[in-house]
Amino acid sequence: MTAIKRRVFVLGGLATAGALALPTNARAATPYPFKLAVASGEPDSSSVVLWTRLAPTPLNADGQGGMPNADVAVEWQVSTTDTFATLTASGTVTARNADAHSVHVVAGGLAADADYFYRFRAQGHISAVGRTRTAPVTGTFGRTLKMAFASCAHYESGYFTAYRRIADDRPDLILHLGDYLYEDATTTGSVREHVGAEIVSLADYRRRYAQYKSDPDLQAAHAVAPWLVVPDDHEVENNYANMVRADSSPALTTAQWTARRTAAYRAYYENMPLRPAAAPTGNSIPLYRRVRWGQLATFHMLDTRQFRDDQACGDGWKVCAAADTASRTLTGAAQEAWLLDGLAQHYGTWDILGQQVFFARQYDASGAASMDAWDGYRASRSRIQQGWRDRSVRNPLVLTGDVHAAWANDLKADYANPNSATIGTELVCTSIASGGNGSATTTIPNAATNPHLKFYSNRRGYVLTTITPAEVTADFRSIPVVTEHGAAVSTLRSFVIQDGVPGLELLDGLAGGRSAPPSRRGRLRLG
Ligand code: FE
Ligand code: CA
Repeated sequence: MTAIKRRVFVLGGLATAGALALPTNARAATPYPFKLAVASGEPDSSSVVLWTRLAPTPLNADGQGGMPNADVAVEWQVSTTDTFATLTASGTVTARNADAHSVHVVAGGLAADADYFYRFRAQGHISAVGRTRTAPVTGTFGRTLKMAFASCAHYESGYFTAYRRIADDRPDLILHLGDYLYEDATTTGSVREHVGAEIVSLADYRRRYAQYKSDPDLQAAHAVAPWLVVPDDHEVENNYANMVRADSSPALTTAQWTARRTAAYRAYYENMPLRPAAAPTGNSIPLYRRVRWGQLATFHMLDTRQFRDDQACGDGWKVCAAADTASRTLTGAAQEAWLLDGLAQHYGTWDILGQQVFFARQYDASGAASMDAWDGYRASRSRIQQGWRDRSVRNPLVLTGDVHAAWANDLKADYANPNSATIGTELVCTSIASGGNGSATTTIPNAATNPHLKFYSNRRGYVLTTITPAEVTADFRSIPVVTEHGAAVSTLRSFVIQDGVPGLELLDGLAGGRSAPPSRRGRLRLG
């Protein structure tokens, strides 16, 4: 039995149950359009975004996925059970040809801090079922929040096993901190290959998203929980800074580069479970935003590419006096003011900055640092750190991607003085696949010159956090191999951050690590 016939058979069973009655003659006419599966995102206390994109043949070079040049009606359903016996919310939305047949449904009227299932139907076919949930209402903590975060999934470098293991961990919420896809051309002999040349046109970006979204492990991670996403550089082009490119290949005129950025942002919006408010206008996309999780947490999702000054001293690792220039900004002035204003509100116990590039200072022995990271924008970092101190932010927690390695860092009032106050904490997820298998080393690079850097791993994986009013536990989940599919995951190291006590405590595992109740865990203050 083919996959399509099996799905039609399943659909028949569901239709009999009554929730999705469907004329028989509509079923067989078109190929299965849900090959890119489903996603949800941006939960608040009464609504969540439901996403799908119709593409029966995802790898078509025109980026249209085999859909006709016409708009298509898509039905959607939300239920408290995966049998959809009763519907909490439902409706019909138009998948527009102009949007590559993607839809962004804001499903409203939902209960706070509640779990839901959702699915779609179009052209006589029914989608996979996704699981999603809402946030607690203002002033309430809600249930313990299990949140995973990840970044950097270079398709050619390895299988997306880490996405599968995120799904297995059944988090309530997933943050993706960028490099969801990469723009580079096919590299013959890779673990698996990108289709096509370096992506430049809207059709190119749409097809590349379709290739990535065809991956069953990525689909599983989308189906398990709502996502909060922010892009980094590779969703457009490596290390671009606002309108400045980092390389000149392929050669593009200014107008062509503008058109490319426009296409990249448009395809990003089309393919992510973002609210309609995040839809791009031409060459800009309004992505920095706050997502409040009741009294428990506030997610300040940042955009560190679209508004930044160009990397100082020509990018790379440099000893660079220009990086200290007071006017330099990574966020742009408007986003910086917006962030500091939001931090001043004390909305929730944990102020979590979901962002892209390495935040803590990291100088090598010669004094060189990464000009693409916050080290290349030191005044910008100082204004934000001092800003949260001035506003008495109780629990600033910075989450980071980009560097294809796991790190855990104390953030310092004065990085030059190890005895200065620890004023916050940074957790850096490694990559899903970028960099391939990596190595087993946990020797912290540049530890001698940066004693606030407390943990490093060069394996692939993600970070699983458990967030309560009293503490955040961070489990560094590690995958030993991605060049073969299906490796097991293990927790390489766990840390705790206590409410009101910035900085890391190591869970030493002697009392059972994360499986032990907090009162029986062995802890070590790293200081
Ligand atoms: Fe990356
Ligand atoms: Ca990056």
